[in-house]
Amino acid sequence: MSRQLQARRTAWLEFTQLAADHRAVNLGQGFPDFSPPTFIQEALREALSGGYQMHQYTRVFGHPPLVRILAKFFGRIVGREIDPFEDVLVTAGAYQALFCAFQALIEEGDEVILVEPFFDCYQPMVELAGGKTVHVSLRPSQKVEGSGVPSSGDWVLSPEELASKFNPRTKAIVINTPNNPLGKVYKTEELQVIADLCVRHDVLCISDEVYEWLTYDGNKHVKIASLPGMWERTVTIGSAGKTFSATGWKLGWAISSVHNMKNLKIIHLGSVYQCPTATQEAVARGFEREYELFGTPESYFQQLPAMLHQKREKLASCLGAAGLQPVMPEGGYFMIADISSVKVDLSDQSTEDEPKDFTFVKWLTKEKGLATMPVSTFYSPEHRREFSQYVRFCFVKEDSTLNAAEDILRKWSQTQ
Ligand code: PMP
Repeated sequence: MSRQLQARRTAWLEFTQLAADHRAVNLGQGFPDFSPPTFIQEALREALSGGYQMHQYTRVFGHPPLVRILAKFFGRIVGREIDPFEDVLVTAGAYQALFCAFQALIEEGDEVILVEPFFDCYQPMVELAGGKTVHVSLRPSQKVEGSGVPSSGDWVLSPEELASKFNPRTKAIVINTPNNPLGKVYKTEELQVIADLCVRHDVLCISDEVYEWLTYDGNKHVKIASLPGMWERTVTIGSAGKTFSATGWKLGWAISSVHNMKNLKIIHLGSVYQCPTATQEAVARGFEREYELFGTPESYFQQLPAMLHQKREKLASCLGAAGLQPVMPEGGYFMIADISSVKVDLSDQSTEDEPKDFTFVKWLTKEKGLATMPVSTFYSPEHRREFSQYVRFCFVKEDSTLNAAEDILRKWSQTQ
């Protein structure tokens, strides 16, 4: 097994266990601690009492009502006809869609460009498929340093540096918008730079869009698959868990043109084979509802970001008061904060080769009862040290959980 895979998953398990051991207020893990909306719970209840078929196998590549509505929904967004039975694959969460994409499309020795910070499974998954990852970092632009409220929008790629990573061995680039952990929502111009390079070098784009409905302050999520020349080159990945606040349902999908999907389907057949019928039926009904309500105030895709916007504000203000400098996310579930100016002596806590964010997260969990995640786990080993002054907070939480975190931060700030 890849050492990367072992090390990364061990770090995540360690932080999750630490939070549980210390009964910490958990702003570490990325899932809502509130119920999904009533309409989707109802949809599952109805599905479960909908006859024997709901309890038996369905079509292997996706339950027909679900692939039909996904094709219709996303076809309207990307402005093209999507074939429900050729271009859509339903998977066990976005996680399995990523796994299928890497296994299907990456061959031994292929290079895959990862934009840092990246969801931590990308690198081990590419390596399991025999590929080699090449890294390029989003960095805060000059104008941020010193003035104004930092925003995830200020974190940008250098077009020259990005272009320098493309070569004849490059098979794919992976992007994640809105980004976990940063909350960056790529603008059309930024996606166009990536798209131009993909077209010029005939490179695929694996676009992880699990937080696509969660954008704030008027930022708009744009699908790179909708840019000219990109439909054939993009595998777009989504998650019902993130879409309907039901992460435990573990249902996701990959959408792409048929020639990419053929191999993804083979990997799906050889691993999971098919996903649970009743949850697929419920998610189909959820999307049918959202299709009708799209763009209206009743749509959950409007209501969830409106609710999270308030939670984002609340978290940012209490982090700021505690001397942690938040980077305001334009989208997603997460906010990173700079811990450089925090006055706490961690010298007796750290081990020699441990990045500062690891030490800080352990200290905050054990000593203050607040669990978070170190951001350096979202970087490749060569860039980890450079970005170890950030920790990630999750704000898709009940107000009572955020209040408890606020209390901890307020008390701590009084002792600093
Ligand atoms: N991609 C990103 C960026 C994520 O943050 C997550 C979940 N944390 C996933 C994929 C996996 O999603 P799912 O739960 O649907 O497998």
